[in-house]
Amino acid sequence: MLIDFKTKPKEFWKAILSEVELKLSPMVFKSLIARTRGEIDENGTLKIVCEDDFVKNNVEKRYRKIIEEAAIKLAGEKVSFKTTVQKGGEYGKNNTNDFGPLFVPEKNPAASFLEKQRKANLSPRFTFENFIMGKNNNLAYAIATAVAQRPGEQYNPVFIYSGVGLGKTHLIQAIGNEIIKNKPGTNVIYTTGEAFTNELIEAIKGGKGGKIGYSTNDFRNKFRKADVLLIDDIQFVIGKETTQEEFFHTFNALYMSQKQIVITSDRPPKDFNSIEERITSRFSSGIVADIQPPDMEMRAAILRTKRDLAGDNIPNDVIDYIAENVTTNIRELEGAYIQVRTYFLAEHLEPTKEAAARALGQTIRKKENKNLNINEILKAVCNYYSVKIPDIKGKRRTKDLVIPRQVAMFLIKEMTDTPFMAIGDFLGGRDHTTIMHGVRTIEEEVKKSGRIKQDVVNVKQTLTDW
Ligand code: ADP
Ligand code: MG
Repeated sequence: MLIDFKTKPKEFWKAILSEVELKLSPMVFKSLIARTRGEIDENGTLKIVCEDDFVKNNVEKRYRKIIEEAAIKLAGEKVSFKTTVQKGGEYGKNNTNDFGPLFVPEKNPAASFLEKQRKANLSPRFTFENFIMGKNNNLAYAIATAVAQRPGEQYNPVFIYSGVGLGKTHLIQAIGNEIIKNKPGTNVIYTTGEAFTNELIEAIKGGKGGKIGYSTNDFRNKFRKADVLLIDDIQFVIGKETTQEEFFHTFNALYMSQKQIVITSDRPPKDFNSIEERITSRFSSGIVADIQPPDMEMRAAILRTKRDLAGDNIPNDVIDYIAENVTTNIRELEGAYIQVRTYFLAEHLEPTKEAAARALGQTIRKKENKNLNINEILKAVCNYYSVKIPDIKGKRRTKDLVIPRQVAMFLIKEMTDTPFMAIGDFLGGRDHTTIMHGVRTIEEEVKKSGRIKQDVVNVKQTLTDW
């Protein structure tokens, strides 16, 4: 079938590359042709943009004929062509996904695995190998491993929920990593509810990351092409009408074609408000598993494994001491372990329980700060800026209110574990995206070390120094 190269330049160039690849050695192809980009200009001329003069000369002198022949074969007519040089363009892409699986450097499986991991948005840190199974998570773990072996077949959708820091992200990403390891051709997409929401908003606005022309259609195509869709922290999607609706359609499309869907959340499906029953009943239609906080035995097991993997020299009684004292969740447990280890190293100490207790004293104090009431934080902010609480919670957007309001958002986020949505509710029923924006704004200010940073430091001091 002939390709209309004027309307489908991308497809045309891709097809030319496949033809050319057959005629050249992989070495030549990779080192030269893949460093080019084909475009059709307004006169219908094929413009081959080359990364440098070396590539350009070679294309012109040695491979012109091959390319011309391929073009005639594919377009059914002679296509005039010229070459130009453009340094620093995105040529690397030719080697990878932009030009389809043909051009993925499969010769180096490790590199292509990393590439797939990156493309799927997965972190190599989260695997089944380093996930410890215990009483608290055995059902979730069993389901996750089964799904990774046979995606889309047995359990669908999978819904995993727990409080923070208990392994949801680890487990859902381990599923993705395992699948691309076993079946590299699978299109795995990992995203978070927050990222899904933001991407949709950007698509509605018609651009993404400064790239113009990313439309809701592109958005739909992207997600509906997934073989395995992993959505972490779905609570950010639920409750927002547009995103929720879009998610619902994506979900249905994938579900109907028996694609695997895995979802995590901070709460069970039934705890979402009844408005979304249509959606939550879909969640419950597959299999639902929770992860509970780890018991003492499990906490110690996790730290021992961590120690052994890192080759740290920390005796069991110190491990047990940490495990006994940090009971909230695994993220804090890991944090405490690192803190103790750093303390030993920095102070050149014998790793004893007593020293660990001193190191942990700080963590435990910090944790008390974490228990700060969000009301107290708001009160401190209002005192500092001499503004009234109802004004902060109110709608007025004058500068003397906007900054304190955003500082309050930032401090609540930083000093407590309150989710964006709850902060929004607390601060007068604001949308969680407003809170995210506010927190980010202050984060940027803090980096700049100006007046606002000092304000933040000062307010914090009034909260922690008693
Ligand atoms: P959540 O997404 O539920 O908030 P994470 O998956 O981010 O929690 O887990 C927090 C930290 O604890 C991560 O560093 C993760 O690797 C670790 N972790 C959680 N569960 C386990 C487990 N069962 N075995 C080993 N590490 C774990
Ligand atoms: Mg998580």
